[in-house]
Amino acid sequence: MSTIAGIDLGTTFSELARLNAIGRPEIVPNSEGERITPSAVYFDEEEAGAIRIGLEAVNCRQLNPDRAVRWIKRHMGDASWRKKVDGRDWSPEEISSLILKKLKQDGSVESPITQVVISVPAHFDEVRRKATMDAGKLAGLQVIGIVNEPVAAALYYATTQNVNGRVLVYDLGGGTFDVTILDINGSDMKIVCSQGDHALGGVDFDSKIIELLEQAYRKEYKADLITSEQERAKFEDDAEDIKKTLSRRNAVRKIIYGPKGSLKVEITRSQFEKAIEPLLARTDILIEVALEEAQSTTSQINKVLLVGGSTRMPVVREHLEKKFGMPPEIAVNVDECVALGAAIHAGLTLLRDAPDKVPAGIAAGLKDVRLKDVCNHSYGTICAPIDEETGRHVIRNSIILKKNTPLPCEVTQTFYTLFDGQSELQVAITQGEDEDPQYVNRIATETFTLPENRPANRPIQVCYSYDVNQRMHCRFEDSDSGKVLEVEFCTGQNGGMTRAHVEQAARELNGYKVQ
Ligand code: AMP
Repeated sequence: MSTIAGIDLGTTFSELARLNAIGRPEIVPNSEGERITPSAVYFDEEEAGAIRIGLEAVNCRQLNPDRAVRWIKRHMGDASWRKKVDGRDWSPEEISSLILKKLKQDGSVESPITQVVISVPAHFDEVRRKATMDAGKLAGLQVIGIVNEPVAAALYYATTQNVNGRVLVYDLGGGTFDVTILDINGSDMKIVCSQGDHALGGVDFDSKIIELLEQAYRKEYKADLITSEQERAKFEDDAEDIKKTLSRRNAVRKIIYGPKGSLKVEITRSQFEKAIEPLLARTDILIEVALEEAQSTTSQINKVLLVGGSTRMPVVREHLEKKFGMPPEIAVNVDECVALGAAIHAGLTLLRDAPDKVPAGIAAGLKDVRLKDVCNHSYGTICAPIDEETGRHVIRNSIILKKNTPLPCEVTQTFYTLFDGQSELQVAITQGEDEDPQYVNRIATETFTLPENRPANRPIQVCYSYDVNQRMHCRFEDSDSGKVLEVEFCTGQNGGMTRAHVEQAARELNGYKVQ
């Protein structure tokens, strides 16, 4: 087995795959012998500094939810989210790093892993991508790249099946949804576009089951079923079981225990499907947007590829079959294909950046694989052009790098200072499609100090580039003086971690044992 690996850091489950000697990816089971590891963390109260990861953490969570974390991916990049345990505040990056550390530890038994690519949902913004990379570094991994989950799945699919044509990847996991359209010709892949929702997935379907249980209990006893976090944790696990069973059976019968007594309930598949209809309608809207961006109709899609555990729900498969007039493709394992594809991506990344470090067998195995990815969002800056009708300055978001531009890409635009004697420029880097600054995210802000005593309208060259790892770099240059502001992107912005911060936290986390 080589030192090159791919990790699917999922909302509910995570997996690690390594490239073998001939460049084929293989899932490495965890120390419990399981191929997938629940993305759950539990801070042991009995043994100081010991942290349980995976199935044990899921089970312990019911005992003491205050010491447990699940679905951390939903908070990735959220600077205000913290979990306080034994007086220490844990950030989403740190919690995620514990899961990664366990995967690294279990995956390194045979030989160490050195270079890793971690997958993220296609619609993750810069802040979340940077947070994911930081989590990897905190876990002591050398993160050589980030890959979009549907792209990783398609990479694995295209390299193991004989595929040609326009493929739509429908990726519905534990907490996120992505739809990606790409053209595949053998092992040549060109991404066309992606759309997604970072708060739509299996946990939302579980919540609908909990709502059905609560309704039934309230109807019978006129009382709340769930009155504590501990009970909620238990019902969350029960709800997931019921949901999975409903993928195989038409109804589930269960006795639930609440404060007023027990109740025998039955939940039918059709009841559940009705409850999740509004959620699935959201995936439909995003498919329509993606088709429009790809200038395709449903009949121009040659294959629909399913990715993510939630695509096991029959309603998803039936709905897609009706929409596209053909059954979706289930040739690849929906749980494992992202990690497997991420490992291939890691091999391709190394072949591009450091070919001499790639063993000959792997280089030969991957030599025909070609991937052309695109920029997943539009990036711009806030400027103040003159409105033609009123003659006044208006604040606008001016897009510099357009969504779906093939990677790597670089665009330079010239902007001008606004008034005489302007000695400062408030630089704002935006992510989003709208001209109106209200409807885009400001993902970084900086002050650019300019030379004094100049007239207005001095040119500033703004250069945005986007690398193959889906990370952006920005450069502002004052043409007169040659002065440059490079925005070290996301480091320290929006509460993100600076390099020094990552290094310090990595040292601190070394003191914790994950099991
Ligand atoms: P992933 O993030 O791809 O690992 O997907 C995990 C999600 O898939 C979780 O919410 C699981 O509950 C869900 N899932 C797994 N198996 C099934 C199934 N048979 N039916 C419905 N949902 C499932």
